[in-house]
Order: sequence, then C-alpha cells, then structure tokens
Amino acid sequence: MSSPSAFPATDKRHPAPILDATLITSVPLTSFAQHLTFQVEGGVKGNDRLEFLPGQSVRIEVALNGRPTPFAYSIASPPNEDNRFELCLKGVSKGSPADNLRELKEGTRVRVTHPQGHFVLQQPVGDTIFLAAGTGIAPIRSMVHWLMKSSDCHQGARVWLFFGARNHESLFFDREFLELARQNPNFHYIPTLSRSHSEWTGARGHVQEHFLRLAPSGEPIHAYACGPPAMVTDVRKLLSEQGWPDALVHFDHHEF
Ligand SMILES: Cc1cc2nc3c(=O)[nH]c(=O)nc-3n(C[C@H](O)[C@H](O)[C@H](O)COP(=O)(O)OP(=O)(O)OC[C@H]3O[C@@H](n4cnc5c(N)ncnc54)[C@H](O)[C@@H]3O)c2cc1C
Repeated sequence: MSSPSAFPATDKRHPAPILDATLITSVPLTSFAQHLTFQVEGGVKGNDRLEFLPGQSVRIEVALNGRPTPFAYSIASPPNEDNRFELCLKGVSKGSPADNLRELKEGTRVRVTHPQGHFVLQQPVGDTIFLAAGTGIAPIRSMVHWLMKSSDCHQGARVWLFFGARNHESLFFDREFLELARQNPNFHYIPTLSRSHSEWTGARGHVQEHFLRLAPSGEPIHAYACGPPAMVTDVRKLLSEQGWPDALVHFDHHEF
C-alpha cells in the first residue's frame, strides 16, 4: 500500500505520527483468521520507536476499492524491544478490510498510526480476570503475555483467562495458553466453546456463564473484557449486579 495516504501529515502528540512497517510473517490461525507480525522500520529510539501499553491498538491503512482506508486493530503481542507488533484478525467476506490484510504478502509495507487507546492494563498489578471472545483475544493476549513474562510483572498475582469461541478450531492460540498455564501455577486458562463437539470436556456455552462461578469469590478484582458487544454488555451487567466498582471493570469491543 502506498500514497496517497489516509492519514494526516502531522499529529499533535507525535512529530512523526505515522510509522512504516513491513509484514514479516503471515500465518493462518484458522481458515478465516490470520496472525500477522510487522516490523516497524527505522530505529528503536526516537520517533520510529514503537511504544505501547498492553491492550492498545493501531490504525492500519487498508486498500479498499483502491483507496487507502484506516481500520483499527488491537496489538496482540506484548510490548518488546524489537519494534515488532502482532495482529490477529478475522475476515470472512471477500474484499473486506480484514480479508485484504489476510491476503497481504510477506514483505509488503504498510503505514500505521502510533498505538493508542485506553483499554490498557492497570497498575499496580493484582489478581485479574480476563474475558475474551473471538478476535477480542488480541488485546488480552498482549496483556496476558506481558503479565506472565516474569514474576517481576505479575508479582505472584492470580490470573484467569476465560476465552470463548464457537469451536475448538476458533480457539486462537489455544496451545500457547495451555503451555502458559502448565508453566505458571498462578495462570488459569478456561477455554469455553459455544458449539462444542460431544467429546469436549471443557466449559460449554459463553464465558459470561462461567466466570463468576470459576473465578475466586470475595473481593472484586480487576476484570478486562473484550469481544462482541453482546458479550461485553453481559459481563458488565453481571459485575455491576455483583457490586463490582466500575473502576475495576475494563472493557473494549470490536465491531465484528
Ligand atoms: C479499537 C478496535 C480494535 C479492533 N481490533 C481488531 C482485532 O484485533 N482483530 C479484528 O479482526 N478486528 C478488530 N477490529 C475490527 C476492525 O477494525 C474491522 O472493523 C474489522 O476487521 C472489519 O471486519 P471485516 O474485514 O470482516 O469487514 P466487514 O465487517 O465485513 O466490513 C467492515 C467495513 O468495511 C467495508 N467493506 C467491507 N467489505 C468491503 C469491500 N468488499 N469493499 C469495500 N469496502 C468493504 C465496509 O465499509 C464495511 O462497513 C477492531 C476495531 C476497533 C474499533
């Protein structure tokens, strides 16, 4: 994708607002979802430095009908030192934004905004529940990996990830989360399938039907929810009914 650009030339917060990035890997997660890794070009210092908080998103130019058009995607990887970021996207209809990104060839250059957004991991870290469905796993994966990177990050906090999908194929990064749970006794992974096959022994239905029962009772803790609007609405309603303060409930929804 090249000029003309959909982005303004300047941005009040960033003297060089737009980053050039190269798609370095593009790997299918399922027949309809893709895991993309981009390398931001330039140095790892100054304006070319990719700085973000776990949970933030970028806007990326997608060519729609020959015109570059910006679409938001959550960064699915934790902050790192190598100026790379990952996306996880789902595109089912031919020619749609996500489908265009899914079809990009490795080596393609794109333009992205600096990361932005308020759906970010709060400090200080404490016991935490994450609820994700579909590609809502993207910002949650960034937060989970950042937290579980080391005990300096999670400080012994207990972390629950409830991840909802229709079927086993749609549980993106399932093996990775299973492995994380195997390595970290304080990380609990509860995959939940709404259209599971008969041999599935895990949770069935939607994440909002399980998390209050399976996560710890007692004092409210930080809860982060990302997924389809109906799921986020249900989670917020349930937590509000339980008397959890709004300040502990963090949410974002992608328009699917
Ligand atoms: C903060 C934020 C974070 C997000 N993070 C993610 C994420 O991590 N992963 C993810 O998958 N999504 C994410 N989204 C949603 C993403 O921005 C797009 O809305 C989504 O990818 C569009 O889905 P789709 O490609 O299936 O297009 P559709 O939902 O089918 O269409 C979206 C729009 O694209 C246009 N369009 C569709 N098809 C065509 C076509 N053939 N030709 C021309 N125009 C067309 C239309 O204007 C349409 O309204 C996020 C959204 C927000 C706001």
